[in-house]
Order: sequence, then structure tokens, then C-alpha cells
Amino acid sequence: MTAPTRSTLALDIGGTKLAVGVVAPDGSVHGLRVIPTDKHEGPDAVLARLFAAGHLAIAEAGHDVGAVGISCGGPLDADTGVVMRPLNLPDWDDVPVGPLAAREFGVPAHLVNDATAGMLGEAASGAAVGARNAIYLTLSTGVGGGAVLNGLPHRGAAGNGGEFGHVMVRPFGRRCTCGRLGCLEAYASGTSIAARARDAVASATEPTVLAALDTVRAEDVVAAADAGDPLARRIWDETLDVIGQAVTDLVNTFEPDVVVLGGGVTRSGGELFDRVRRTIDATAMAPAAAAVRLERAALAPYECLVGAAVHAVTRIEETTHV
Ligand SMILES: [Zn+2]
Repeated sequence: MTAPTRSTLALDIGGTKLAVGVVAPDGSVHGLRVIPTDKHEGPDAVLARLFAAGHLAIAEAGHDVGAVGISCGGPLDADTGVVMRPLNLPDWDDVPVGPLAAREFGVPAHLVNDATAGMLGEAASGAAVGARNAIYLTLSTGVGGGAVLNGLPHRGAAGNGGEFGHVMVRPFGRRCTCGRLGCLEAYASGTSIAARARDAVASATEPTVLAALDTVRAEDVVAAADAGDPLARRIWDETLDVIGQAVTDLVNTFEPDVVVLGGGVTRSGGELFDRVRRTIDATAMAPAAAAVRLERAALAPYECLVGAAVHAVTRIEETTHV
């Protein structure tokens, strides 16, 4: 792989935020902008604001841009650049984001699953540099995943491989956004942590500081658990247990060099990493447990932007050199 000489415009489409930046060949991000998605406006209006922010980023960075890389929640078709009703953007029904971006900016544009992008960013210039086998898990509004296997990004048949948020951690458990029961995402996303706490508060027979809050957010649960609130402690303990179990399954399955954890839930503090590490050491197969490093996403919160640029450059090289 030859080093790219031109920068890449990177666009990250999230359910709550749009992030835009120009990624230089050395991985540095310029002209960074983060704006609300305001998804109720629909895909046409959101894309118009996203593209306008992209033009501003290019102007501010002053770089020559040779490609556009777009990261978005799945499902999507990475080959055609079409977004197919992501769980966090349910109105986006077969929206050809890739072709629209290519026409808007006059350069090739490539679409990639946002968690796959996070993995690519961390592998290129973050916590997974040099790893032949790496797993990335983002614990955010939802739970996403990506993998590098034998030195290559794992894409799956249509670019949606590595949906580690939808591995089962509680058979017949809570209903997930995907419709299945008991997925990791139904317990460990910020949304699910808050929802589980609200359910527990509604049926609580014990006093809890969470009962006094108008809206319970995941960070409120973590803060209350840290302060010794028993109800919050139970919710957070169960969350840490299921994350530890899921990561242990991934360690056993792939025997990775490194597992990288990113997303807002990981900003809760060191307890999450300590507990997951202890669960791996106590319950994973011994050689896999001994081999694996557990790391915080080094590029957070912009690993998806860097990874979207890496993906675009890689796909252009593949189509140019084969
Ligand atoms: Zn699911």
C-alpha cells in the first residue's frame, strides 16, 4: 500500500451528531466540525447540511482533497454506497449517500459502516497500530464492532460484518433495537443503561437518588453507582458483567492481539476497563487471555473520521491497482 499524497474529506453520520473533517495522509484531522444531526428533518436536509459543513472544512483546511470517506451506522451496502435504514436513522430508506457525495465534491466517495471505520482508524494510527488481529467495540448510543483479522479489515459479504453489539448476552432477555432478545446492545449501550435504570426506578421498593431526576441518563447511573447508590450499583454491575462476558467471547473466538473499546460509555472511568480485564483473565482461554491487550480508543471521539478516510483511500487503491 502506497501512502496517499492527497487528503480525504471524512464525513461521519451519527444518529445525534454529524462530524466532518479533512484527514491528511499522516492521519491528522483538519477543519473539524461537529453539528447536530437533527434527524427529524429527513435525509435530504441532513445531507445538505453535512455537505455544506464538508465544503467549509475543505476551505478551512486548505488541502487538496482526492476522495470522500463516509462512515454511517449499518445496515448499508459498502459497494454501492447506499444507506439502508440504519437502526439510528430509520427514515434513511435506501439513500445513495456515496453517489450523492461523489457528485457534490467531484471526487470518488466510499461508504463504510461506522464501527468498521472506528476499527480502521484505530488500526491505522490509534491503539491497534501493528496488530494482526484486533477487535474494536464502541459502546455508544448503540453498540458497534469491527475487526482486523490476519492483517486485513473484516468487511463481511456486503460490508456489515462485525456487528458485535448483536451477540447474545442474556437468552430471552431485553428486546434489542434489532428486534432480537438479549443482545449486548440491549444492555450496554448508553440508551439501554438509561432505560434499564428507569425501569428499575419505576418498580423500586428501595430509595435511590435516580428517582429525583427528571431524565435518567447513563452517566447519571455511573455517577450514582460510584456514590454507593444500591440500585444504580446493580444496574452498572450487570452492565460491566455483560460487557466482560461479550469481550471474553470475542477474545476466545478471535484470539486478538488487542481489544479496543471506544464510545461514550467507556468515558465512565477506569472501573469498566478493570472489570473487563478481570473477567477476561478469570474466564477466557488462558493463551488468548495472556495474548490480548485491552485498550481505550486512542483517537476517540474521531476514530470513525480517520477510519472513513482510510477506507476511501484503500478502496480507491484496490480499484486502481487490480
Ligand atoms: Zn440486537
